[in-house]
Amino acid sequence: MTTSEPVLTAAQTEAVERAIDALWPKAVDLLQRMVATNSVNPLFPGIAREAVIGGETQVTGMLAEFLSGFGLDSHAVAPDPERVNRVSVLKGAGGGRSLLINGHVDTVAPFKSELWSTGSPWNAEIRDGRLYGLGSTDMKSGLVSAALAAAALASAGIRLKGELQIHAVVGEETMSHAFGTSAVLEAGYVAEGGIVVEPTSQPVPLTVSPVGAGNFNLHIEVQGLASHGGNRGPSIRAGGGGMAVGVNAVEKAILVVQALQQLEQEWGTTKVHPAFPAGFFTLCPAVLHGDAGVPSVGYLADRATIGYLVWYPPQNTAAEIRAEIEAQVRRAAEMDPWLRQHPPVLRWDSNWPVSDTDPEHPLVRSLVRARADVLGAPPAGLADTAAFNACCDAAFIEQKGIPSVIFGPGDLRCAHSMNEFVNLSEVADAARILARSAARWCGVA
Ligand SMILES: [Zn+2]
Repeated sequence: MTTSEPVLTAAQTEAVERAIDALWPKAVDLLQRMVATNSVNPLFPGIAREAVIGGETQVTGMLAEFLSGFGLDSHAVAPDPERVNRVSVLKGAGGGRSLLINGHVDTVAPFKSELWSTGSPWNAEIRDGRLYGLGSTDMKSGLVSAALAAAALASAGIRLKGELQIHAVVGEETMSHAFGTSAVLEAGYVAEGGIVVEPTSQPVPLTVSPVGAGNFNLHIEVQGLASHGGNRGPSIRAGGGGMAVGVNAVEKAILVVQALQQLEQEWGTTKVHPAFPAGFFTLCPAVLHGDAGVPSVGYLADRATIGYLVWYPPQNTAAEIRAEIEAQVRRAAEMDPWLRQHPPVLRWDSNWPVSDTDPEHPLVRSLVRARADVLGAPPAGLADTAAFNACCDAAFIEQKGIPSVIFGPGDLRCAHSMNEFVNLSEVADAARILARSAARWCGVA
């Protein structure tokens, strides 16, 4: 952007700062109430819908109610009536660019509930400037930063030219964007730019991330030939009858894992992207199960399944990644007499697309400059943007033709784990940055 980019005057900046300070106790109370509400995604593996349904709706309601106190209109979008998304709209004066800020209210299932230092994943306790609880980092705090920014602009009497929308959505943790982010966009709540307030903590807190990785969930099924455990020797030793006697699917699966480890090693040098840390793109065999249909070691297993999480870079299409992995599995199968006749079957369960906005895009720049105003320049040697080391709904916002960037408080390394927390100072800093960025992007009347 040029110097014509609208910036708050010193007096307006001062007024926003004062409003953020004044509203801070209410923002912390809102965050505590949101974190204390169980809003586990009802489609999360292992979760019974009836045990958690309604939590997401309560949390989007809390956020919308807070914002309605500052004159924002609230709109519900609910393809599933028991999972209500809420859009809060701060009307613009006209003549500026519109902005949406998106955050999800669902969480993953709690990890080792009984071992949390706070006694429960939903005890939203504050200790030493940290607020603990499931969803604190991922990502109720991001939504509270956005709400605080909008509330501070409104109560400081600053009128944006473009409209500012806050999308509190359901379903992100299971890629159910058709119930959440995409449903809201399809209902007509769109803008000229989008910010997703996921925790962008790497390489430094509150990193501006115009790029996110793509991923695949892949299951590979490997067949064996069940047999009595006593046939192990004859099935593998010289002169024993070989695979006519029995074939252990567990070990055939390991051959596939080894082949994909080799491909992963190659990716360390063939798949590089300037915004990602070296070696980020990987193929992780996260689940391995094999047996003969009974939970006993007394058999040679006739089936094995390997579950993979695959991370791939923005420069590759999903089709290219699939083709590469399929070719590698095929090569491994050709090397083995049994797998040659019984090729592993690949089941591509889901593909989370990449998000990829140009770091020089004016939306990204507005956030980079706002961040520099509040926190100063990034440490020496670091670029002013870096990739988000995961995937998020920014991908689905971009699919609707809306350039988007990821930026928010919290630490990705404690997301989806025990004792998740957020540093409250980051929540306030994120609000300061989002308010300034909105002013730069939307313009000030
Ligand atoms: Zn998240």
